[in-house]
Amino acid sequence: METRLVQNPPFPRNYASELLKIERGRGVVLRDAAGRTYLDLGAGIAVNALGYGRRDLARVAARQMRKLVHISNLYANAPAIELAELLIDVTRDRVGTFAAVQFGNSGAEANEAALKYARLYARRTRGPGHHKILSMSNAFHGRTMGALSATPNKKYSEPFEPLVPDMLASEYNNPDQLEAMLSDAFAGVIVEVVQGEGGLKIMSEAFAAKLNELCRKHDILLIADEVQTGLGRTGKLFGCEHVGLEPDIVTFSKPLAGGLPLSATMVPEKVNAVLSAGDHGTTFGGGPVTTAVATHVVRTIADAAFLARVAERGRELTAMLDEIVDSSPEVTERRGVGMLQGLVIDGDEASARVAGIMDACRDRGVLLLRSSTNVVRIAPPLVIGSRDLARGIEILRTVLH
Ligand code: PLP
Repeated sequence: METRLVQNPPFPRNYASELLKIERGRGVVLRDAAGRTYLDLGAGIAVNALGYGRRDLARVAARQMRKLVHISNLYANAPAIELAELLIDVTRDRVGTFAAVQFGNSGAEANEAALKYARLYARRTRGPGHHKILSMSNAFHGRTMGALSATPNKKYSEPFEPLVPDMLASEYNNPDQLEAMLSDAFAGVIVEVVQGEGGLKIMSEAFAAKLNELCRKHDILLIADEVQTGLGRTGKLFGCEHVGLEPDIVTFSKPLAGGLPLSATMVPEKVNAVLSAGDHGTTFGGGPVTTAVATHVVRTIADAAFLARVAERGRELTAMLDEIVDSSPEVTERRGVGMLQGLVIDGDEASARVAGIMDACRDRGVLLLRSSTNVVRIAPPLVIGSRDLARGIEILRTVLH
């Protein structure tokens, strides 16, 4: 029988030295190389919204692969146009009015584009000297140098310093500090409505209102990083809808193309108006296969009945996690919303304890995620049913007790 745990795989040591080898999946269940099955409460880090083994996605991808796999952005392709129009359509009246979509291949790349557009817009409308970027404490925007410079967490950035200059951080959910820091010197502010990697804190409505007000006042581009929260994860189509955030630019990626690499940076008309050919680009971003699959994914998730089911599942998850908070002394708090929630573990050894909880759940057939150092994160495929969700959380509860 094949071994299910791989020791020292030929990947860099920035990954774990022991990895569970996953072979296939169906619905919300994964199977390892030795044939053991796992209920997936992590969805490939909040990616696999529609679950595994989807024939509809495979059919769309295969049909497009037979027609055209790649053509570059020197030409247009019909699936990319269709997806861009769909994204512009579903964001209108929910998060904002956008004129164009810059496709890319990852969350970091989507945020790089957003940060570049912010600087370009400030320079072309106000001249040089207005290029500062503000991000929030505990934010995570990706690991490329620009996105990393907007990720004020030494754990990720210290070995790579010096970072991109003039990228500052302000305390999340602190409107007074935001007001004191922001000025005409800034080009952009980048924020998450739920801090997916940084501990699952949610933006307050007061903070969202202050961001809207100050960015408008100084003509600073407000960038909502919806890489993790976007497309149904929070029980609404977009995280911004929960708190009334009105961004100028929004970025999407993780669930967008059903597990294939794709990102989208939503561009408003006022930015599009100052762009010239060659200002930004990508080789693979917006290819016909990923965008064809993404159109199918976005249509599926944007359906009102689908979103209502996700929201209902989210409420069930909230109730189950609240019960655990009440009954487990080491769990201090539930965080997050919808299908992106977590439990905060108390104490000096919290980081090791979270690892222990995740390992114990894995051994009992449930896969979980971590957020920050001390939060057990639950982000299942959005298609999970009540019974599977309850079964998974019951195993987590048993491990915690
Ligand atoms: N932004 C947010 C909010 C994320 O959660 C992540 C990844 O976890 C990223 C950006 C980076 O995405 P990627 O790993 O695809 O570059």
